[in-house]
Amino acid sequence: MNPVFSVRNPRTGQNDYSFRIVQPGEIRQTATDARSAAADWSAKPPEGRCAVLAIWRDALLASRDELVQALIDDTGRKRESVLEFDAAVAGLSRWIERSPALLVEPPVRNSVVKPMTMTPASAPLGLVAVISPWNFPMLLALIDAIPALAAGCVVMVKPSEFTPRFVEPLRRTIESVPALSRVLRFVVGDAQTGAAMIDVADAVCFTGSVATGRVIARHCADRLIPVFLELGGKDAAIVLEGADVPRAARAIAWGGLANAGQSCLSIERVFVVEAVYAAFVDALVAEVKQLRLAWPDVDTGEIGPIIAARQADLIREQLEDALRRGARVLVGGRIETHGGGLWCQPTVLVDVHADMRVMTEETFGPLLPVMRCRDAEHALSLANDTEFGLSGAVFGPREQAMALAQRMECGAVSVNDASLTAIVHDGEKQAFKHSGLGASRMGDSSISRFRRRRMLIENAALTHDPWWFAARTPTGPAP
Ligand code: NAD
Repeated sequence: MNPVFSVRNPRTGQNDYSFRIVQPGEIRQTATDARSAAADWSAKPPEGRCAVLAIWRDALLASRDELVQALIDDTGRKRESVLEFDAAVAGLSRWIERSPALLVEPPVRNSVVKPMTMTPASAPLGLVAVISPWNFPMLLALIDAIPALAAGCVVMVKPSEFTPRFVEPLRRTIESVPALSRVLRFVVGDAQTGAAMIDVADAVCFTGSVATGRVIARHCADRLIPVFLELGGKDAAIVLEGADVPRAARAIAWGGLANAGQSCLSIERVFVVEAVYAAFVDALVAEVKQLRLAWPDVDTGEIGPIIAARQADLIREQLEDALRRGARVLVGGRIETHGGGLWCQPTVLVDVHADMRVMTEETFGPLLPVMRCRDAEHALSLANDTEFGLSGAVFGPREQAMALAQRMECGAVSVNDASLTAIVHDGEKQAFKHSGLGASRMGDSSISRFRRRRMLIENAALTHDPWWFAARTPTGPAP
């Protein structure tokens, strides 16, 4: 009998859903089944694979309401569940449209070593394991799976054990497309299930925490398989003199508090230069005061519940540490229990120091700590003084903001806006420092992660090559 995982509902705190944890033996069988379909799938032309993906897109759209509801049940929030579904389908459409052209091999060319010619080719990586987190369960389960499929790989996905409710309705859409159901397998399970997947995969795409990312990187190193890591963040926003302060406040409130701050690309540190500090803090507080918890009605309010209960403990610890060491709460500051769910009030903190836990550790909750800075250089040095390097934001006069953005040590910078990588997925970017490892998941080049480059090198001369052993007469004695 498989052990059963009991899942907490973030709105009620009740464990109202459970699933059988998929065991390593079943993972091995699923991998064998997926591999048996790999040759057919990869032999299809890219247009053929995209035609299958397009049929799946219709099935997804036909199940939109059911899937969105499952995401609401998984996460407790509605607004973001709708956006999440739509973003996942938009990503699917983008790959359907773009991948055939992106997978065209470059033309044959002459080598600098004459008279060789080179015919570029490539091969799919094989079986890709995707292991994903709970904050955007469906989007992050599919964001790498779709380009991997389009590139000709077969894929096994394990979403987070905390948000598994969307998997059954999603599986039904996959099973309605037989050609897809052979090559895209969803499994439900925990860390052990994920580890068992790594044992059988040819490559791994992991989205999750830095701590788990390290474990997974070691596991993949043992197996000498490629791994792409998309990990945690502690994004900084910098507000310069001359910035449109009301705009900065509105954008930073959204960038830090959307999805109750449970996004890798949430703004979690705000650095404001002296000249606009007071005006900015007033504007931010006014903005945040207008936000409401999405309770009791899921259709109202902007701030959903904390999805994973363990995250509430961490947010509470960071708040307590900050307050004990002199920070002040200007709005929010409490985690409340409503109907059994855990809700963190959207919070603005001031008088914070760079060494407080709320400034050094990922929060993954709706806290906005704001620090006063002497000038742009001071703000930049504080923003870069972190182990993370996912993304960031700068607000200010365009030229100055662009110049500062160039010097921020992170993969993407929103200029005069915040958290734009949540919206814009077609620009290449890579994480700095501990926020990730590997080629860009965003942008057109992302698909090339899933194919190994090959080269067919042809010698057209067919004469004796100068680097061969000397030509021998066929009559000599055998060695
Ligand atoms: P997590 O690291 O705890 O878990 C992520 C996934 O890994 C889960 O599916 C889990 O079951 C699995 N897992 C855990 N241990 C494993 C092991 N030893 N082997 C194989 N699989 C294992 O992360 P989480 O709490 O679910 O998600 C929150 C984290 O994800 C945050 O740090 C957030 O910043 C990060 N995140 C990053 C991005 C990004 O694109 N960079 C996006 C979203 C979330």
